[in-house]
Amino acid sequence: MKKRYIMSPGPVEVPPSVLSVGGLPMIHHRTPEYRKALSEVTEGLKYVFQTKNDILIFPSAGTGGMESAVINMCSPGDKVLVAACGQFGERWAKIAEAFDIIPVKVFAEWGNEVDYTKVEAELKANPDIKAVFTTLSETSTGIENDIKKLGGIVKGTKAVFVVDAVSGMGAVEFKTDEWSVDVVVVGAQKGMMIPPGVAMVSLSEKAKAALALSKTPKYYFSYVEALKALKKDKLPDTPYTSSVSLILQLRESIRLIKEEGLENVWARHSKIATAVRAGVSALGLKPFAKGKPSNSVTSIWAPEGIDGDAVNKKIRDEYGITMAGGQGKMKGKMFRIGHLGYVDRFDAVIGISAVEMALTEMGVKIELGKGVKAVEEELLRK
Ligand SMILES: *Cc1c(COP(=O)(O)O)cnc(C)c1O
Repeated sequence: MKKRYIMSPGPVEVPPSVLSVGGLPMIHHRTPEYRKALSEVTEGLKYVFQTKNDILIFPSAGTGGMESAVINMCSPGDKVLVAACGQFGERWAKIAEAFDIIPVKVFAEWGNEVDYTKVEAELKANPDIKAVFTTLSETSTGIENDIKKLGGIVKGTKAVFVVDAVSGMGAVEFKTDEWSVDVVVVGAQKGMMIPPGVAMVSLSEKAKAALALSKTPKYYFSYVEALKALKKDKLPDTPYTSSVSLILQLRESIRLIKEEGLENVWARHSKIATAVRAGVSALGLKPFAKGKPSNSVTSIWAPEGIDGDAVNKKIRDEYGITMAGGQGKMKGKMFRIGHLGYVDRFDAVIGISAVEMALTEMGVKIELGKGVKAVEEELLRK
């Protein structure tokens, strides 16, 4: 028998109380009972997002939420700015191009944070930029961008500020309204701790004004229709069938976040991430992040002569722990340990222990227990 763990940066483990809600009998999505649940979810999400803005929910992967933001905020031929520092940030530009929207690509070298100075300069040089797209926690490289700083830069311009917080929300500090973020996109299977399948999007007044001008063809992802359904009665509704079970699960995971307190959720992620990073450096492994490391995921260079995917595969297939390899151009060169959502201190111990054991088996000279010791010391630090 093998006990299985998911330590990937999404999907993450689902807390038992959230799992059990998934097994409840089906209810119809047009009933008062369901719409009351949906109302609790849309209100509860405002606390998690730290916003007063309306939040729309679509049955979709996180990327669907990203696409919805592009097609509702822009029109073909519009110029937008994409501030990226990895695979997910660069995805914004690919989506824009798919709809004939023209991205000004401010792409930082992977491992760094977004280039804030260049973003500011490009916005000055291109006052016709309609939207700025970026990423809170860049999952492919394990970097956290300074969204507060970017919000301050974009605020004074005509552009709407759109943030992919898919792997950051519910894990790292994020304040939608205080940081002037107009559109926030979040997925289900990361910090929100539910199975994959819904995308959540918040919209500021500035975003709603941009929405009125958008001419990109759309049907399913129309924010106009979704807002109409949200507002048509006292209780929210959705234009098409809602993800009933996932929404009920989301209600439970929001309850868990509220019970713990958002600041405590952030502090927990910070503690565990700091411990994992301590373990990595004690083992003499090289962290990939040169900018601020994300508290959601730690990216690690594979040791000299070792295939990062092989490390990941060994830990998954032989130890039963699913971590992640490198993405895109970093495939085979790194591996990543996810520590977001339903995680506690001992996940850091297990994760670093697995890395120590796997690398030892693969012939890397590592002192067994050295990483785990550093993790434990960090966890015990007050
Ligand atoms: C996981 C992730 C996505 C994509 O989510 P999907 O549900 O796979 O579409 C987008 N952005 C970031 C930062 C992510 O971590």
